[in-house]
Amino acid sequence: MPEHNTLLDNKLREIFGYTSFNPHQREIIDTVRSGRDCVAILPTGSGKSLCYQLPAILSGDKLAVVVSPLISLMKDQVLQLDQLGDYAVLLNSSLTRKTYQANVARIASGQARILYVAPETLMKPYILDLLNSVTVSFLTIDEAHCISEWGHDFRPEYRQLAALRGRFPNLPVLALTATATSRVREDIITSLQMRNPAVFVASFDRPNLFLEVKEKTKAFKQLTAFLNKFPDQSGIIYCASRNETDRVATKLAERGFAVRPYHAGMTAKARTRNQEAFIRDDVRIIVATIAFGMGINKPDVRFVVHYDLPKNIESYYQQIGRAGRDGLPAHCLLLLGYGDISKIKYFIAQKESEKEIRIAKNQLTVMLSYAEATCCRRIPMLSYFGETYQKENCGACDNCVADARVETRDLSVEAQKFMSCIWRTGQMFGMGYIINVLRGSTDKRILQNGHDKLSTWGIGKDHTWQAWQQLGRQLIAHDFVNQDPAYGGLKLTEAAWPVLRAEKIFMGRMEEGETMEKASSRKAAAGKDKGDFSDPAKRDLFQVLRQKRKELAQQKGVPPYVVFSDRTLMEMAEYCPSTLAEMAEIHGIGAVKLKRYGSIFLAVLNNF
Ligand code: ADP
Ligand code: ZN
Repeated sequence: MPEHNTLLDNKLREIFGYTSFNPHQREIIDTVRSGRDCVAILPTGSGKSLCYQLPAILSGDKLAVVVSPLISLMKDQVLQLDQLGDYAVLLNSSLTRKTYQANVARIASGQARILYVAPETLMKPYILDLLNSVTVSFLTIDEAHCISEWGHDFRPEYRQLAALRGRFPNLPVLALTATATSRVREDIITSLQMRNPAVFVASFDRPNLFLEVKEKTKAFKQLTAFLNKFPDQSGIIYCASRNETDRVATKLAERGFAVRPYHAGMTAKARTRNQEAFIRDDVRIIVATIAFGMGINKPDVRFVVHYDLPKNIESYYQQIGRAGRDGLPAHCLLLLGYGDISKIKYFIAQKESEKEIRIAKNQLTVMLSYAEATCCRRIPMLSYFGETYQKENCGACDNCVADARVETRDLSVEAQKFMSCIWRTGQMFGMGYIINVLRGSTDKRILQNGHDKLSTWGIGKDHTWQAWQQLGRQLIAHDFVNQDPAYGGLKLTEAAWPVLRAEKIFMGRMEEGETMEKASSRKAAAGKDKGDFSDPAKRDLFQVLRQKRKELAQQKGVPPYVVFSDRTLMEMAEYCPSTLAEMAEIHGIGAVKLKRYGSIFLAVLNNF
């Protein structure tokens, strides 16, 4: 192992209490330390903060500047860093004059290693002068996709960062984000005038998230049954409307669940109060519209339930992404109601322009290809991000853990029929049209186009419409067929030809007219409660440790996870360290936390 790697490993353990780096972290840190520009696209929970925090802390007396879009996120980071040592300061207009000046003094005297600052503050002449008076090691742009108008979170203030490059042309830049299409990525690189940056892109798979879809039958009953499987754990329930949010929250409260609502119809004060209660573990459940989530750093969200169907898979991915940031198992349940689909279709039909309608329709199709998938749910989900999921069985979705009684079978002939129909109609029609041709429909459009004269017309009468649809979605999910994202037209990919030429077989599932209910009742009740202890005494101990954590957090006025993560407490309960030296071996306990909390928690363990 090269010498500097030993140094990084030692510091990782000593300061953060972690035993090893997550994927890409070491490479990114090496790049930053070498002074080269770097772009890192890693999913939520992969540990992006460490990528700038560790090199900043190791930079001697230099200062690393971190730009972030939300004050709440910056405050949270500073709180967490304060538990590791005296490293970070924040400059922002919300600070009192006194704190602000104290922070400036710490920077000017070279005591601070990391400065968190909002982009608009950074560009103030006063701050620029301050930065000129110290040695800045590198600049980190967190949530870097905010710089791009193509992204979903465009922030005009981020555009000003380009000008910063003019003021500090030699300063290395580290751009971090969890979401970036190649277009956004290019935009980040050019807007920040990055020079020959090293680019790291991780898989968007979140292996610790268990993915489950259930047909919505008795929604509220299904919800409470689910919640009862996660006693004492934090989670989010997303609803489609404010009314529904209030209704579900009220009903849950009546049943004795510790719950608060959150939506844009509430006053800002009430929203903040409820969010704080959730972050501080005073209530364990938030029922919310999509307004909730930005700026939530809570790492121990153990479940996300979608009470209604999300509009598109990208927002679904983002919302479930708030679960399990700490890397421990978390459960994502989507309740799929056929009534909800009709409702969404109705809203789509109300849209103004043809283009909007087309886009929304296709978003719904992609969402349904996930929700109705019979294959591993990671296949359609990751295919949205242009990734091909490689594993046979992910072990963490309902379809993969189901006692697969609907075996996949050789559907080569069906696949050939379907795909040659796409080919013969000119690769421009959508799924519904293709199925109608296959099933010999005499729809006006089909007759007009003369497609009733094709050899593939009517060769699919032996299967139901639903069965063909199921097959079509699998062909898309497995990349034999591409669907035009705007128009929905189906096209064959290169991979289709070996199947069409009967050189390759296609294995899949076709269930004739089977209802979702039947299908899902066959699926094993998915996902046992993970993160659970086999020994009930350990479970009790874990609760006692959590209680202590909450007490300490309250005294200090910080969220509990800032004191210790769930993983730390779980390891404590599991291994029961009896000395400080043993305590230091526990995940997430570095030198400073050991000193602050080590003996307090040893006492708790001893008493138990
Ligand atoms: P991101 O910003 O990518 O969503 P964070 O920086 O918030 O991720 O980190 C997610 C969680 O992972 C945090 O609780 C963090 O302390 C933890 N973490 C980061 N790096 C490591 C590591 N090398 N080993 C163990 N845990 C880590
Ligand atoms: Zn799976």
